[in-house]
Amino acid sequence: MLAFTLRRQARPLQRQLQQRGVSGVSGATTKMFINGEFVESQSSEWTEIRNPATQEVVSRVPQSTAQELEAAAHSAQLAFGEWRRTSVLSRQRKMLDLQHAIRGSMDALAHSIVAEQGKVLSDARGDVMRGLQVVEDMANITNYMQGAKLEVSADMDTYTVREPLGVVAGICPFNFPAMIPLWMFPVALATGNTCVLKPSERDPGAAMILAQLCNDVGIPSGVLNVVHGSHRTVDFLTADPRIRAVSFVGGDRAGRHIYERAMQHGKRCQANLGAKNHAIVLPDADKEHALNAIAGAAFGAAGQRCMALSVAVLVGDAGAWVDEIVERARALRVDGGLEPDADLGPMITRDALARAEQLVQSAADEGAHIALDGRGVRVAKYPDGNFLGPTVIDHATPAMQCYQQEIFGPVLTCIRVKTLDDALALVNANRYGNGASVFTRSGPCARKVQAEIEAGQLGINVPIPVPLPMFAFTGNKASFLGDANFYGRSGVGFYTQLKTVTSLWRKQDADDRQAAVHMPTIH
Ligand code: NAD
Repeated sequence: MLAFTLRRQARPLQRQLQQRGVSGVSGATTKMFINGEFVESQSSEWTEIRNPATQEVVSRVPQSTAQELEAAAHSAQLAFGEWRRTSVLSRQRKMLDLQHAIRGSMDALAHSIVAEQGKVLSDARGDVMRGLQVVEDMANITNYMQGAKLEVSADMDTYTVREPLGVVAGICPFNFPAMIPLWMFPVALATGNTCVLKPSERDPGAAMILAQLCNDVGIPSGVLNVVHGSHRTVDFLTADPRIRAVSFVGGDRAGRHIYERAMQHGKRCQANLGAKNHAIVLPDADKEHALNAIAGAAFGAAGQRCMALSVAVLVGDAGAWVDEIVERARALRVDGGLEPDADLGPMITRDALARAEQLVQSAADEGAHIALDGRGVRVAKYPDGNFLGPTVIDHATPAMQCYQQEIFGPVLTCIRVKTLDDALALVNANRYGNGASVFTRSGPCARKVQAEIEAGQLGINVPIPVPLPMFAFTGNKASFLGDANFYGRSGVGFYTQLKTVTSLWRKQDADDRQAAVHMPTIH
């Protein structure tokens, strides 16, 4: 009944979007958004976007041509001249209007995400909501943009002015089609930059709806542009001299390439990369809470979250809890994202599924115990979906491929250790440093973990500690390249540069008009 109601609500929205040529709607091609217009690409290269639950072709996305990429950068460059001069109050107002518009289009955005990415509807709403919070936080841009001022000498003031960089680019992954574009362009725009955004070529629909909403709230033409494609688009965005900064979220291979190329071309770059997030479970933990949290964070979104808990490090007697994790995992319902009771949907592509299955097989081959095997799960209504059921690998060791590689699927790898020190040594030896959680009732143990763990984001009895936007997303080690993190104060720092002005307006000059010929000195 719920699914029926939601589908019925979504239809008029989808029709409306289809009429506007916005992607995420069955049968449409995905347009670009250049200089305030939805433009059909002249490309000869198109990729099909398939619904991961059905293989139905949802849309076709172009590899934007060289001329189209040029047009997008040109439009952003032209728009910067005016946009940078808008008052901070007017940009704040646009952010307020945009948050209202996004809230009103929640259904369209969430349905586009389910159709293209596959996650379940409630989770798709969460995807939008976590991005929306960044827009809401940008309504605070008037505070973020404030500088410092000090009278450094008689009649002499030094003050800082925070200025935009110019045209900036955003390159996005598939797993959060709304949230990650919203980590990027609202911060860029609120600080006075213009932006060329490249959503993932696998699910660009939500970004196109967001572009439509920017248009609807009167963000001027050219301030946000959306182009598509893969390597060639990325290579353009990381080399074009008009683009001053690049924000990237995605996997290691692309991220390293993008970061290095952006550096070679003298750009700022912030790059959030892959992850392997550990949950340390101490035997004194609130067992129900810990195991529910771990099952939700390991298998929710089919494990395709950069902050998914993919490794459980079970300390001492907590090693005996694997069976109960398996019980919870087995109880989760694998289904199409619009089905009302679905807990997890399909993986993004057949290739991603095959890779995850192969890593599960490697664990078995290397001597681990597959305590729950989700391979070959049958989903009656969606026989063609890219489904992998929740999978639990027990008795894994750090040398195994299933631990060494980011699986990015609904697979939890369990490693048993004797002590908290062993657990910390294991986590800290891992090359990634995105997030970690510890489950315990002991304050001293939690404090020890907080002090010694080398993960950028720690949850204490919290499974997915993605910080709210008044903080920043602080992955570290191999999970991050750059200096300034995404969103919050450091996101504002990334998209702006400081100008420090020292001015002299002598009080005596108000009545004394005689020139001074000596070298100026400061007292
Ligand atoms: P991906 O690296 O395949 O793609 C990301 C973007 O890079 C896409 O826009 C794609 O077009 C482009 N791209 C892909 N390969 C490229 C290449 N060789 N050269 C140039 N550009 C290339 O990532 P994905 O599969 O879309 O997303 C999943 C990955 O993203 C996972 O590794 C996940 O951990 C990571 N991720 C990290 C965070 C974080 O905050 N740390 C958040 C979300 C996702």
